[in-house]
Amino acid sequence: MIYAGSHISSAGGYAAMGRQIRKLGGDTFAFFTRNPRGARAKKLDPEDIREFLEMAGELKLGPVVAHAPYTLNACAAREDLRRFARETMADDLKRLSCTPGNYYNFHPGCHVGQGTEAGIRLIAETLNGILKDEEHTTVLLETMSGKGSEVGRTFEELREILDRVERQDRIGVCLDTCHVWDAGYDIAGNPDGVFEEFDRVIGLDRLKALHINDSQNPRGSRKDRHAKIGEGMIGAEAVRRIVNHPAVQGLPCILETPNDDEGWAREIAFLRSACQYKEKNMEGEQI
Ligand code: FE
Ligand code: FE
Ligand code: ZN
Repeated sequence: MIYAGSHISSAGGYAAMGRQIRKLGGDTFAFFTRNPRGARAKKLDPEDIREFLEMAGELKLGPVVAHAPYTLNACAAREDLRRFARETMADDLKRLSCTPGNYYNFHPGCHVGQGTEAGIRLIAETLNGILKDEEHTTVLLETMSGKGSEVGRTFEELREILDRVERQDRIGVCLDTCHVWDAGYDIAGNPDGVFEEFDRVIGLDRLKALHINDSQNPRGSRKDRHAKIGEGMIGAEAVRRIVNHPAVQGLPCILETPNDDEGWAREIAFLRSACQYKEKNMEGEQI
């Protein structure tokens, strides 16, 4: 069994997100920690958090995956931009310690002409600067499509970043199906092979969450344009195979499809019914 949900708006606070995901029928979700442009985050309201945590218990929510503003660049060439990324991410992690057990997912960054190797080094430096001993949130590197100068298109690049992080217990990967497809991995035709390669290069124990999206473009296009499930080049049958893979059992599977509430509710129901594993985390216990 998987946890299924979608990316939802955080504008109304935590309890509002709980109500929204209940309405959509999900048991996990993703949200931006702040406006995607990276503006200041709203002050946390302890009463709002308390109400949310109560709801999370009632709804038996799985891990929730907070998403860093996508405009942050942990490997920017300019020091002030790197500092902004570092300080924003550090502040997000501090805030996320109010909702334990969740993940913090971010786009590794764009090397903007410095080269992949420099990008990898700067991303690892940023991570080593923000993972503090008193916090527990696991930070997830997202697999990227490779548009522009994005770092993290290949599993090898992600592995190199992971290897340089001091706090090995606080770091993992979020696999985005549209991104890996656009990066050149055949997640549509051979999902088993992609998971095998992930295991060989990174290790499946590092896989903590998935973004389930179809893609508007052919494999290897490096475009990063999401499509609704079954309306892109990956197809619904491949998604069905993905959510039935043993490596995905027990993990949050989050839709980032261009949809409305009705569409997300339908796709969440599809993910859930497509998965034939009865128990979360029960490898081999297929019904
Ligand atoms: Fe993302
Ligand atoms: Fe994504
Ligand atoms: Zn994307």
